[in-house]
Amino acid sequence: MQILVVEDEPKVAAFLKQGLEESGHEVLCASDGIDGRRLAKEKAVDLVLLDVMLPGLNGVDTCRAIRHDGGRMPILMLTALGTTDDKVAGLDAGADDYLVKPFEFQELLARIRSLSRRGQAPQGTEGVLIYADLHLDLMKKEATRHGQRILLTAKEFTLLEFFMRNPDRVLPRTLISERVWDIDFHTGTNVVEAYIKLLRKKVDRDFEPKLIHNRVGLGYILTEHP
Ligand code: CA
Repeated sequence: MQILVVEDEPKVAAFLKQGLEESGHEVLCASDGIDGRRLAKEKAVDLVLLDVMLPGLNGVDTCRAIRHDGGRMPILMLTALGTTDDKVAGLDAGADDYLVKPFEFQELLARIRSLSRRGQAPQGTEGVLIYADLHLDLMKKEATRHGQRILLTAKEFTLLEFFMRNPDRVLPRTLISERVWDIDFHTGTNVVEAYIKLLRKKVDRDFEPKLIHNRVGLGYILTEHP
């Protein structure tokens, strides 16, 4: 994979570049958000590692800019801050996942593997998942509701796919975090909540009936019969 690393601290950037190259990836580096945005647009980048604290254009704004430019590759945010607000801001800007510094390099590799798997079309695809007026095209990676296109990030798509494969069934948060992220979230299930909030905004806010519901103390359910 060709990975773009956007990181202003030379030592961290060099460490990431070396580790990723030793793991068989090609690495492009940018030391600020402006340059990162340009490279994401001009080069065939498969995945972006994006530091949040950057001079000039910060990581969240850079992420938004890359999406604005039409970049659909997975974006993994690297944050030293680790507060829920920062995570939600990153996810809201179109990031797929984030990692809190300092992190184990093995964990970074695991996240990259997980994100790159999701970027690929499923094998022997069943085509389209349908629930009520919600359609999920697994080949084109497109979601529509009532015929209207819903733009989802890679992670939101995976989350919605999990719901649509398990309709009318309460899904506990722990199960969602296991199955959608397939590694334990040390930071807890508030990440799941943050993603579901984003997903509900896109899937339910402008449509009736609401399909994704909270079952307090139990989890979440996709159903048209709440
Ligand atoms: Ca930084």
